[in-house]
Amino acid sequence: MKRAYILLSALAFLIVASCSSPNSDKPKYVFYFIGDGMGIQHVNAAQLYLDSVEHYNNQTSISFLDFPVGSFATTYAANRYITGSAAAGTALSTGSKTSIGTIGLNADHSDSLFSIAKQFKQNGFKVGVVTSVSIDHATPAAFYAHQPERDNYYEISLDLARSGYHFFAGGPVKDPTGKRSNNPGISFYELAEKNGVAITDRLDLVDSLSKTSKTILYNAPNTASGNSLKYEIDRKEGDVSLADLTSAAITALHNPDGFFLMVEGGKIDWAAHDNDGAATIKEVIAFSQAVAKAVEFYNKYPNETLIVVTADHETGGLSIGNYLNGYNSNLAILREQNVSQGELAATLKNLKVEKPKASLNEVKDSLARYIGLFTVISPDDKESKELEKAYSVSFGGATSSKHYDSFNYNGVNDVAATGVAIVNRKAGLGWSSYSHTGSPVPVYVMGSGDALFKGSMTNTDIPLRILKATGIESR
Ligand SMILES: [Zn+2]
Repeated sequence: MKRAYILLSALAFLIVASCSSPNSDKPKYVFYFIGDGMGIQHVNAAQLYLDSVEHYNNQTSISFLDFPVGSFATTYAANRYITGSAAAGTALSTGSKTSIGTIGLNADHSDSLFSIAKQFKQNGFKVGVVTSVSIDHATPAAFYAHQPERDNYYEISLDLARSGYHFFAGGPVKDPTGKRSNNPGISFYELAEKNGVAITDRLDLVDSLSKTSKTILYNAPNTASGNSLKYEIDRKEGDVSLADLTSAAITALHNPDGFFLMVEGGKIDWAAHDNDGAATIKEVIAFSQAVAKAVEFYNKYPNETLIVVTADHETGGLSIGNYLNGYNSNLAILREQNVSQGELAATLKNLKVEKPKASLNEVKDSLARYIGLFTVISPDDKESKELEKAYSVSFGGATSSKHYDSFNYNGVNDVAATGVAIVNRKAGLGWSSYSHTGSPVPVYVMGSGDALFKGSMTNTDIPLRILKATGIESR
C-alpha cells in the first residue's frame, strides 16, 4: 500500500513537472523584435488609445501585452547612462556594452563583438534582419556590421553584402557608392552582386528568390525621408508596412533547421523625438501588427518558437498625464491628427513656397484639416498666442526661441511643432525630452524558454538568454 502510494506520488510529481513547463523544448524559430525608442509608456499609450477609439486597422489590443513573461531591462551604455541606438543595438545583438555611436565593436574599438545573428548562422539557422528605416541604420547594422561610427553608411553596406545572412528588408542603403566615405572603393551594388545578394523591390518575388538566392535584399519602394518606410499615420494604400516585411521574412526564412529574425520598429523613436504622440502611438500599433505575424507563426509551432519583444531605449520621456491636464487623459482626440508632424511641416513649407504671404487664417485652415485644431480641439488664449508666435517664425521670418531635436528630416517647422504640442497637451500626454532618456525598457517574451526572461535585466542579458534558450554556446 505504502509502496503504491509512493509510486503514485512520484508519477503525479512527474506529470505536474512536465505540465508546469510546456515550453521546455529548445526553440528553433527565434523572433527578436526591437521597438526603437519604445518605452513602457509608449506601449501603454498605444493600448489606451486603442481602448479609447475601440480599434485601429481592425486591431483592438497591442499584440504582446498578454505575453506570459513581462519584465524590464536597463539600457545604460559603457560610457554614458543615457544610451543611443548604436550602443544599445550592439548590447542587444552581442551581449556586451559598448560606447555611444559604436556598431559591433568594443568600447575603445580595439576588438570586434559578434552578434547572436552571426552565431545563429554558424549553427545552421537562416538569419533575417528587417527594419522600417534604412537597412544600414544603427539597430539593424548592429546585427551584421562592425564600425566605429554609426554614420559609416557605406562601410556598413559593405558589411551587409559580406554577411551571408539570408534575408534583409527595409529602406535602401544610404551611401552605396561611398560618396560620403573617406575610403570609397567597390560599390555596394557590385559587392552585393559578387556575393550573391539578389536585390528586389517586389515582395511578391521574395518566395521564388528565396529558393534560388543565397541572400535577398528587399528595398522598400516609395520611401519617406531618410530612406524609411512611411510613418503608419502617413501610410497610403499600396505602401508596405512593417507587418508586410515580417511576413515576407517568415516566407523567406522558414525551413526545418530553424531561423533567427530581428525586426526593428525604427520610427517609434523618430516620432518620439518630435514629441508627436499620434504618430508615436500609430508606430507602436504598426510594430504590434508585425509582432502579430510572429504570434500567428507561434500558434502553428508553439513548442519550437520563441518571441522576444523589447526596445533599445526610451525616447522623449513620455508620460500619460501632464502638469496642465492633471488627472485628465483624452487620447481619443489624437484620432483627429491624420498626418505626422514631419508631414505637416512639409505641407506648411510647400504652402510658404506657393504663398509666401499666406495669412494666419490660411495656416489655421491647414491645422484644422491635418491635426484637428480649431475644429474638434480648441486652443485656449495662451495656446493661440503660441501659435501666432510660431506663425511669425515660420511665415514672418521671426527667430524661433525654441529648441527642437527633430528627426523628421523635413526640418523643424514652428507652426507644426507648436500645433502638435497643443494636441498632445489636450490629449493628456506629457513629454520631458526631445532626446532619449535613461528609463528602463519593457521586455515581453512568449514561447520556448520564456521563463529565462523573468526578473529584471540589463540589455546585454537579453541576447545571452536567447542563446541560452536555444542551447547555443555564447562565445
Ligand atoms: Zn533616437
